[in-house]
Amino acid sequence: MPAPQSLAELEADVARDLTLTAHPANPWLEPKTSGGQPVLDCLIIGAGQCGLAVAHALRRDRVDNILVLDRAPHGREGPWATYARMHNLRSWKTQIGPDLKLPALCYQAWHEAQWGAADFAAMPWIPKQKWHDYLLWFRRITGIPVRNGVAASAITPARTDDSMPCLRIATSEGDLLARKVVLATGQEGIGRWWMPEFVAALPPALRAHAAEEIDFAALRGKVVAVLGAGASAFDNAAVALEQGAAEVHLFCRRSDPIVVQPYRWLTFAGFLRHMHQMPDAWRWRFMAKILGMREGFAQDTYDRARRFPNFTMHVGRPWTGARAEGGRATLATPRGDFAADFLICGTGVRMDPRLVPELVHCAENVAQWQDRYTPPPEEADARLGDFPYLAEDSSFIEKRPGETPWIRDIHLFGIGTSLSFGPAGSSINAMSISAPRVAAGVTRGLFEADLPRLWQSLNDYDIKQVELDWSRIAAE
Ligand SMILES: Cc1cc2nc3c(=O)[nH]c(=O)nc-3n(C[C@H](O)[C@H](O)[C@H](O)COP(=O)(O)OP(=O)(O)OC[C@H]3O[C@@H](n4cnc5c(N)ncnc54)[C@H](O)[C@@H]3O)c2cc1C
Repeated sequence: MPAPQSLAELEADVARDLTLTAHPANPWLEPKTSGGQPVLDCLIIGAGQCGLAVAHALRRDRVDNILVLDRAPHGREGPWATYARMHNLRSWKTQIGPDLKLPALCYQAWHEAQWGAADFAAMPWIPKQKWHDYLLWFRRITGIPVRNGVAASAITPARTDDSMPCLRIATSEGDLLARKVVLATGQEGIGRWWMPEFVAALPPALRAHAAEEIDFAALRGKVVAVLGAGASAFDNAAVALEQGAAEVHLFCRRSDPIVVQPYRWLTFAGFLRHMHQMPDAWRWRFMAKILGMREGFAQDTYDRARRFPNFTMHVGRPWTGARAEGGRATLATPRGDFAADFLICGTGVRMDPRLVPELVHCAENVAQWQDRYTPPPEEADARLGDFPYLAEDSSFIEKRPGETPWIRDIHLFGIGTSLSFGPAGSSINAMSISAPRVAAGVTRGLFEADLPRLWQSLNDYDIKQVELDWSRIAAE
């Protein structure tokens, strides 16, 4: 078949592919109500790439009564149009993502339909803005139902009118009811963006996290200090330099910065598909190493900052304290104090279910790795102990069984799954394997709860596929 020459042609291919691969196409769920109000089969909180991918996977399995919420306005979901300050994605351009292996839905197909195969071949990396546009197209063309500008908050247990467990989800536009919830709320979705406490204690005018909105124009002519040597730290340093900062200093704790990308190493089917089935000791060991190495910076990220003569990278120089002095920040470091006008922390996230509004009624009972596994002393890491310890269907497990049994209907899909599942929701390369797995966790629960009804349905099943000719049959 010739490659589509326009988006319209590609969209026709998508429609055809979806039809050709629709099997099994039979609907199998029955609508429920609670107090007369409709109950969704699944509510997905977050319309970033993870939320869209799991929604698509559910709809392919004929879980149609779903809704995706995002508190951001349309076009502002996820980091791509907001705090992702790089030019290009760091993942390989040939990686597939939310398409779930349907060729016409892949990024490459979308790109080539508009700019041609030669353009795709010549492009080293996917521009960030194009990835974002692709996600918006993907959402439109798959018809995923998304409601923007609606924030979800506390989840509590409820019952359907036929006495099945379901969940009540408070939102900024009133309560919703759903049999299942998927939290696809992003990097900070199961905790918070983290910076050292002594930096957080400084006046906000002197510091920011790399994930915050930053007025870079106001840093013109200023001395900026950046903490961390991961990709985001470099991106922020580069933007400050491009916007005319007088000096930018990037501080790396290690004396030998990490220059390999562990997420490249782990991109093979064995790891992505089976890590979650391995014993705790191995899951911890691998993910502690990978998360400890952080998201490495790529060559173009490094070069973007390095080309400025007023950029300095300090290695083996962590920040050990900070104080505000004369409208500036003075940092304590093992090699003496350092004064800067503004601090940016590229220091990632910390897991803490107690900070998650959706989990306010169950966070104390959400099992974490520290409740389930004690690593050998040389592998101990309190930060990793805070990650949720998830069930094999990606749902939360109770710390104390019986206190909040309803949390088994809340599934997580995002970076918080990293210790239980590997990089399932934290990078694009895992998505074609992890999104169907989360969706299968949801459908398994729906199916299991429906067993009595389905048993009755089988017994009532009377659609004949053959008419017997009783005049030709000898019966006793
Ligand atoms: C700066 C940066 C660069 C990255 N670059 C790459 C890369 O190059 N390659 C790669 O593979 N990975 C990359 N990642 C990792 C990962 O791919 C992204 O973080 C990606 O956005 C994760 O998708 P998500 O759907 O989990 O979260 P998000 O895209 O963050 O989406 C979560 C959504 O949930 C919404 N939300 C949150 N809470 C609520 C609520 N209570 N109610 C309603 N809505 C809510 C948010 O508004 C948001 O739109 C990068 C991450 C960052 C931060």
